[in-house]
Amino acid sequence: MPEKARQRSTQVYQHYLYTVTDSSECSSEKEEDEEPSKRLTPLEKLTLEMCKDENTVKELTVGKRVGFYKVRGQIGCGNFSKVKLATHALTKDKVAVKIMDKMRLDVQTQRMLTREISNMESLYHPNLLQLFEVLETPSRLYLILEFAGGGDLHTRISSGGKLTDLESKIVFAQILSAVKYMHENNIIHRDLKAENVLYTTNGCIKVADFGFSTKVNNRNQALDTFCGSPPYAAPELFKDDSYIGPPVDVWAMGVLLFFMVTGSLPFRADTVPKLRQSVLEGAYVLPIWVSAPCQRLIRGILKPEPSERCALDQMLGCEWLLPVELFRPIPPLYQLNPIHLLEAGPGELDRDQEEVKGILEKLGVTPEHILNNQGKRIRSPINGVYRILLHRVKRNRGAESVPSISGVVKDPKRDSLRAYRNLRHSSKLCALS
Ligand code: ATP
Ligand code: MG
Repeated sequence: MPEKARQRSTQVYQHYLYTVTDSSECSSEKEEDEEPSKRLTPLEKLTLEMCKDENTVKELTVGKRVGFYKVRGQIGCGNFSKVKLATHALTKDKVAVKIMDKMRLDVQTQRMLTREISNMESLYHPNLLQLFEVLETPSRLYLILEFAGGGDLHTRISSGGKLTDLESKIVFAQILSAVKYMHENNIIHRDLKAENVLYTTNGCIKVADFGFSTKVNNRNQALDTFCGSPPYAAPELFKDDSYIGPPVDVWAMGVLLFFMVTGSLPFRADTVPKLRQSVLEGAYVLPIWVSAPCQRLIRGILKPEPSERCALDQMLGCEWLLPVELFRPIPPLYQLNPIHLLEAGPGELDRDQEEVKGILEKLGVTPEHILNNQGKRIRSPINGVYRILLHRVKRNRGAESVPSISGVVKDPKRDSLRAYRNLRHSSKLCALS
């Protein structure tokens, strides 16, 4: 078979494989025998289209569809990926698809990708970007992510200037809540920067991009790979030595906070060696308009010695963040797996779960589908539908509401600092030796 035709047939074969494991698998005989009066469920209709409808198969072959997702325009790109908008063909929800060309990934990047997937799969917090599903073809890997339609923090500050004290508080409190949850689950982000902080359309913050994240056995475990973006890198990362994970994220949060309230970065230089020197010297100038409580917090975070840096719990209790009503319920991890819908006894499911269960039934997702797709975990299209619906139901119930502020907060005059406007910070990885 000519190479092109062979590739095409492999791709089509891949799409056939994407059908869900159960009686809804497409089989021509079954369909021909079917009584015309039998109404197909939306799921049956879709899986049938993916096998038999010429247009759908063509779209799958040329990449306009991936699994159950209809792919639309590009919304972002990074060092390792292209990010596109897509809609779920069954639920109609918008998602973001991070697309990676497997041929361009070296062994180390593949290892990082595996970590990105397993770390994202195991976290569930309203301020962390959620991973719904992972799909793979011979040449590409697709991460199906929650869509954050409000742009990223870097673009927002670069085009609109620094945030007000009040805005900074609201944004920082959400980042803090997300990082605290990650650290409690022994996951270190290692690439916190304004480009990786996204807004949803209703202003909720989502910490994204777990490409450099790592899971540690305990929070004092020594790490030895330089990760992240140099302007956000802690001094210990510039020394040829090992480092402890949590204080590195804390430092990056200090740089982020400085960037939010001033519109520029505390350590700046036009080359990495000069930047290294600037970070190691640790000298930065905090403009006088930054409120005193915020100044104290930044100084508490940007301490050269990691053990002296503010801990996350200290930040939570600091004067500057006191007026923020931060806490929202963090859903329990077991909810990420639809199997508990089947296992729960009468009255044991909460309102959200009951609602999701009802929608799944209407779409034609049966207990059999849920059971049969268990082994595929994040690579299961059924788990993908479930996670998307759960996310929608929780969002509609206010899970993504922006934290409120109690008490009067002084709001300094907006002053747009334009420095470093168009400079995006690319993240790097190298082993410390
Ligand atoms: P880098 O290494 O440069 O940070 P990356 O390849 O790891 O990039 P991401 O940071 O995950 O990729 O995504 C690149 C850009 O795509 C983001 O800065 C953001 O603008 C956009 N983007 C990523 N995920 C989403 C999402 N879920 N919703 C909306 N936009 C997104
Ligand atoms: Mg990124």
